[in-house]
Amino acid sequence: MRVLLLFIALMAGCQKAEQSRPNIVFFLVDDHAFKAVSAYDDSLLQTPNIDRIAIEGMRFDDASVTNAICAPSRSVILTGAHSHINGVIDNATTLDPTQPQFPKLMQESGYQTALIGKWHLKSEPIGFDYYDILIGQGQYYSPEFKKSVNGSVPVKTIHDGYCTDLTMDFTLDWLEQERKDDEPFLLLCHQKAPHRSWMPGPNEMDLFDEVTFPEPATLFDDYKGRASPASTQAMTIANHMFMWYDLMVPSDKPKDELQGPDKWAKNVLGRMNDEQRDIWDASIDPENERFIEAQLDGDELIRWKYQRYMKNYLRCIKGIDANVGRLLDYLVEHDLDDNTIVIYMSDQGFFLGEHGWYDKRFMYEPCLRVPLLIAWPEHVKAGSVSNALVQNLDIAPTLLDIAGVPIPSRMQGESLVPILEGHQNTLRDSAYYHYYEFPGAHSVQKHEGVRTNQYKLIHYYEVDEWEMFDFVNDPNEVNNLYGNPDYKAVQMKLEDELASLKKQYEVPERESNAL
Ligand code: CA
Repeated sequence: MRVLLLFIALMAGCQKAEQSRPNIVFFLVDDHAFKAVSAYDDSLLQTPNIDRIAIEGMRFDDASVTNAICAPSRSVILTGAHSHINGVIDNATTLDPTQPQFPKLMQESGYQTALIGKWHLKSEPIGFDYYDILIGQGQYYSPEFKKSVNGSVPVKTIHDGYCTDLTMDFTLDWLEQERKDDEPFLLLCHQKAPHRSWMPGPNEMDLFDEVTFPEPATLFDDYKGRASPASTQAMTIANHMFMWYDLMVPSDKPKDELQGPDKWAKNVLGRMNDEQRDIWDASIDPENERFIEAQLDGDELIRWKYQRYMKNYLRCIKGIDANVGRLLDYLVEHDLDDNTIVIYMSDQGFFLGEHGWYDKRFMYEPCLRVPLLIAWPEHVKAGSVSNALVQNLDIAPTLLDIAGVPIPSRMQGESLVPILEGHQNTLRDSAYYHYYEFPGAHSVQKHEGVRTNQYKLIHYYEVDEWEMFDFVNDPNEVNNLYGNPDYKAVQMKLEDELASLKKQYEVPERESNAL
């Protein structure tokens, strides 16, 4: 009897310990620029629900990624290791699923784990008790999801609805129907939006109708003084956006006369049901009629494209924001908010017209930096701000640290817990970056570099050209300081930092700049 009582007491103790480990909700969105979060900058739109996480927690003002492109960034987040270590250097590479990933390690430690929404890695997710993920990039309308429960063979289903709303519907369904009371949970809610082609949902189609968004100072950048890759990319709003697929202006040309992704624009629109299509047409058609009537060209056409792009991109963000609110409300209504950490971040930033561009890839601030907000009741001071140089590399070690799981030595990031709890203000002196996908979409040359809290040094090594910016005093990054004698000491220090980081992170040596 005494043995039984002791056993019961021990079990009760275990259960209590389990309950004291926090739940984690991790929102990962796709291509969300930090300046499209009003907690960072309210010049474009208001995101009151995402801002709740900043108000209740910590806003990271210097969070960046190690490689500003989708699959590589997601792999860095999962493995806590740089691209050259985890192997996913570009979007074409498959993630080796046998390497350490934080969800699996947390699952093994007793967390109930779930993943809903965009995955975008070629291998199946591992370490999840439950996943319901988009196939590849996924579709905004009538998206197809692939679901597996407790290791079951995945089942594909096409769902009627809008992707951002459905992703949250399935997330809330999991909380309501699958969540266990006696285990802490790790819930990854990964939104596809606002990825290209920026198709808003029915609830947001009529937003911003009368709004004219401010143009960035470099919308008509001439790239003077920059290295040649700034000029040779293929990601300008002026020349590389497609009128139908990207800008929602339909064409009546036969399919074989359409260019690029315009060839499948009709099929994308065809995924809408009648009600969705009516709402879409009621919003877009009058704007298109005005556009066709105006017969714009030159700079005026670029300006119009920028406004159309912004309108749809930001409508997508409003859809995410509303759905973030649904989940935050659920946590409060079910008394889960006190013991749940909520994290909001993007896989990388995005150009919103800076340098005349959309897309990402470059080591420039608009896509290098990401929004990162973390709320952790009783651990993080509400409304606090950190200027520490943190990276997507740090997410896995941080979550493992929070869960009390040993951090594998292979992981190269640092735990943010001391910063979150206010014991520490800095994390690293400089951050390493490496982009590999060339030749590839948007023709951005391979480059690596180092960034401190004021300067960055970039080496486009296949063409052996350099850039250096003081992004604090030159926030638009147009004054290339590389080779400027006034900045010789800064340049030498950055060169040393770069060499030192490459050694620390075991970046393979190139035989020459051309490799
Ligand atoms: Ca992305």
